[in-house]
Amino acid sequence: CGIVGYIGPREAYPIVIEGLKRLEYRGYDSAGIALFDGENLKVSKTKGKVVDLEAIAEKNITLSGNVGIGHTRWATHGIPNDVNSHPHVSNSGDLVIIHNGIIENYESIKQELITRGYTFKSDTDTEVLINLIEEVKKQENLKLGKAVQVALNQVIGAYAIAVFDKNKPEEIVVARLGSPLAIGIGDNEDEFFIASDASPFIEYTKNAVYLEDEEMAIIRFHKDIKIRKIKDDSVVDTYVQELQI
Ligand code: GLU
Repeated sequence: CGIVGYIGPREAYPIVIEGLKRLEYRGYDSAGIALFDGENLKVSKTKGKVVDLEAIAEKNITLSGNVGIGHTRWATHGIPNDVNSHPHVSNSGDLVIIHNGIIENYESIKQELITRGYTFKSDTDTEVLINLIEEVKKQENLKLGKAVQVALNQVIGAYAIAVFDKNKPEEIVVARLGSPLAIGIGDNEDEFFIASDASPFIEYTKNAVYLEDEEMAIIRFHKDIKIRKIKDDSVVDTYVQELQI
C-alpha cells in the first residue's frame, strides 16, 4: 500500500501515476487517483493494478490538474472492489482523502455520523474518517488543518493520510501515525511532493522532510510547510534532509 501526492506548477497526473508504480513493491489490491483542475475534483479508482487505473482514468476523466493524490490500497475494512478503493470523498463532495492504515474505532464514529445524516458508499474505515473531518470542520467552523487535527484526536488506529479541500486548492494536509510519510520540497518551495517513501519524487528534488509518528503537516503551495504535533498542537521544527543518490 502507498500514497503519493503533488501540488505545484506541473501536471500532477504523470507524477502521481509513476509514483504509484514505484510504490508497487509495498503490495496492494486496488489503486486510485484524485485530480483537481482548478475547478473540479476528478476521482478515478479501481480494483487491480496501477496499469488498470491508468486505462480507466484515461477513459473517464480529463487528466489535467496541478494538484493530485494517489493511492494503492491493501484492504483491511471492506473487500477489494472499485467502491472501497481510495480516494474517498466526503458527503459534501468538497473533501478527499487517501489513507494507509486502520481506524479501529470507525464503527462507533460511523453510527454517530449516520445519526447526523451522513451516508456511506463504501465499507471502509477511511470514508468514516473523511466524513468525521467534514463534520468537525462544519460543527466547529474550523480550517482544514485544524479539523484534521481534531478528528485525528478522536480516532484510534494507524495512518498515513493526505487530505485535500477543493475550496482551498493551494493546500494539502498530511499526517502520520505508524505508516511512513515523506514530503519532497521543490526548489524555492514552489512545489511539494508527498509519498510513502522518497522514490516517487527523487528525480524532482533531493530535499525531503520525513514526518515522525504523531505529526501532521500543512503543505501550502508557493508558501511553506508547517509541522505540528497532532496531540498538543506544538510546533515542530522542519528538518529538511538532503537525499543521497
Ligand atoms: N483501512 C483502509 C482500507 O481498508 C486503508 C487500507 C490501506 O492501508 O491501504 O481501505
